[in-house]
Amino acid sequence: MIPFLDLHAVNTPYHDAIEEKIRSILSRGRYLLGEENEAFCTSFAEYCGTKHALGVGNGLEALELLLRGYGFGSGDEIIVPANTFIATILAISHAGCTPILIEPDITTYNIDSTKIEKAITPRTKAIMLVHLYGQAVEMENIWEIAQRHSLKILEDSAQAHGAYYQERRVGNLGDASAFSFYPGKNLGCFGDGGAITTNDTELYHKIQALANYGSYKKYHHLYKGYNSRLDEIQAGILSIKLQHLDKDNQYRREIAQYYRENITNPHITLPSCSNESSHVWHLFVIRTKERSQLQQYLADNGIETLIHYPVPPHKQPAYEEWNSLSLPITEKIHEEVLSLPISPVMQKKDIEYIVECLNRYKA
Ligand SMILES: *Cc1c(COP(=O)(O)O)cnc(C)c1O
Repeated sequence: MIPFLDLHAVNTPYHDAIEEKIRSILSRGRYLLGEENEAFCTSFAEYCGTKHALGVGNGLEALELLLRGYGFGSGDEIIVPANTFIATILAISHAGCTPILIEPDITTYNIDSTKIEKAITPRTKAIMLVHLYGQAVEMENIWEIAQRHSLKILEDSAQAHGAYYQERRVGNLGDASAFSFYPGKNLGCFGDGGAITTNDTELYHKIQALANYGSYKKYHHLYKGYNSRLDEIQAGILSIKLQHLDKDNQYRREIAQYYRENITNPHITLPSCSNESSHVWHLFVIRTKERSQLQQYLADNGIETLIHYPVPPHKQPAYEEWNSLSLPITEKIHEEVLSLPISPVMQKKDIEYIVECLNRYKA
């Protein structure tokens, strides 16, 4: 079986360095908010090109902290793509804000920026972008709209560590950004982890306190804060893996290029990519009208695939209030998408075999 993602194989090259790192953390005996966390945040900010990075507990909390950091809450509307992983929407709900769902562009799967302005009301506070599947959102229009309406631009960069829009990396395209280091992401730790990046020093300081019980000084609480921190071991692991992220992303690009040049089956729609550096291929997502047959055929041929995502947020029981909403592009995407294996450790022969099987498939 060709697995969808062999995380053990992805991490094996780092085991020695990580064992050494963990031993040094053990010998220091400092487990939270120590030098590993500081070192990782410094290098991650530098990597993204931002003034600040702050390690937090996970991606969902990073997203909520962005909204809380700007003081958004009840009555505030946040514009968000309708076809995202549920965490983006949950963060908006948890902050007490109202998510305003916008249809994606069927070619990029990212938010359709031509549909944003019609959704803006006097209550709109921010546009929460998602660089879905690893592809940076086209920013030009969005920068203009945000400026015209004085809206904040927040990025959900959980799938796009390292992607560029023009000269700038994801994480540095708006006012502030949230990252996840969940093990399966392009930059993943060995448990849960996340970060926020920003050039807004005031916001950075506020979120620093919010993520640590609302306090700058132990036992003095300025805000009703949270406990959301990146621990020393995860930070140490991330510092090691960050050094290899660009190389890993480059290999993902090579696989994606091979898939895009060689899959020729007319039943399959391939993902588009306007510019090589704008995509880090967290997922390689094809579309087909015969998804369940194709997925079964691939499984019968020893190829594991996954669906990102089978049910859109507005059709989830958790968002019962939206269940009768009609978002045809979002729904079509959720019915047709299928994710092929892609990872920094895939074997060339497996990639070739997958292409061969796909081209042999007859509906
Ligand atoms: C993974 C992911 C998140 C959530 O990150 P966690 O660390 O799992 O909380 C948020 N948004 C998107 C788009 C994601 O892919």
